[in-house]
Amino acid sequence: MLNILFAANASRWSQYQVPLRRAFDAAGLKVTLFTETDAPETVDYIIYAPNGAVSDFTPFTGCKAVLGLWAGVEKIVGNTTLTQPLCRMVDSGLEEGMVEWVTGHVLRHHLGMDAHILHQNGVWEPVAPPLARDRTVAILGLGELGRACAQALAALRFNVLGWSRSPKDVPGVTCLSGEDGLDKALSLAEIVVLLLPQTPETENLLNAARLARLPEGAVIINPGRGPLIDDDALLAALDAGHIGHATLDVFRVEPLPPAHPFWAHPKVTVTPHIASETRPDSASRVIAENIRRGEAGEPFLFLVDRAKGY
Ligand code: NDP
Repeated sequence: MLNILFAANASRWSQYQVPLRRAFDAAGLKVTLFTETDAPETVDYIIYAPNGAVSDFTPFTGCKAVLGLWAGVEKIVGNTTLTQPLCRMVDSGLEEGMVEWVTGHVLRHHLGMDAHILHQNGVWEPVAPPLARDRTVAILGLGELGRACAQALAALRFNVLGWSRSPKDVPGVTCLSGEDGLDKALSLAEIVVLLLPQTPETENLLNAARLARLPEGAVIINPGRGPLIDDDALLAALDAGHIGHATLDVFRVEPLPPAHPFWAHPKVTVTPHIASETRPDSASRVIAENIRRGEAGEPFLFLVDRAKGY
């Protein structure tokens, strides 16, 4: 019998307990699943989300792995009490949701939908939007989510540039890496989508100098993490008219405080960190598979590289 601590908040527990038990049964795992324990040394695995009760992993001396429910790990990766392997969430439901959100927001700007939805004024102006093939979209980050979004946009025939730390080969996507690659992506991108993790290297990646490299009127779409963008530089670039619009799903402080200038800015769309989320059924299967692997002595899936920070 394996002891598994579910260390996430109560609302996640109500979403996950049934799918998890179903996934453990399907994987043939005999499990005791609980949300609190007086015997941390007996815990075999921890299922983790940042807003749960565990921040000190020291007492969990028998824990074989910490299995995150989130794709982003910036809130745990630097935790010095965590000596066990850390796995992040890669979930088909999370990926599908992100593809839909990114594609929808890219198409909004590409097709100029706001003009018709928000500014209907009785004037008949039959100007058709360009084709996707004539629009360049850069995706910064070509991991699980960035790659899926890049491929979906390429399937719609956008001219897609992708940028990542290591060189990549994604069919239909021009893959770039390194500082030169970023320069090139930014200088060509009419729409930029940020799907990078938050690490010391990516913090303020879109600073004033890099925003200035974007073409006049470029649109920024950020479902990655708030600190990827220098907020003040973005507001200045929006006010100067250099950046046409920013659609932001993630922020340095969440919930975004009511007084934050993003809320009222006419060129900013705020969405409340809903671009995508882990789906309990598919995510539970990922958790169960990783526990099965751990017990079988097989390598864990989706191990976080603690040195790289993602
Ligand atoms: P992955 O770890 O699979 O991919 C990260 C990508 O970023 C990789 O291509 C990686 O390059 C690249 N990268 C990392 N650091 C650098 C760097 N310094 N320079 C250039 N490229 C870099 O992550 P996912 O695709 O699964 O998720 C991406 C992010 O999306 C998450 O970290 C999270 O912050 C965010 N997210 C947001 C959600 C929302 O609802 N808003 C939901 C889920 C995730 P390489 O491939 O070479 O390693």
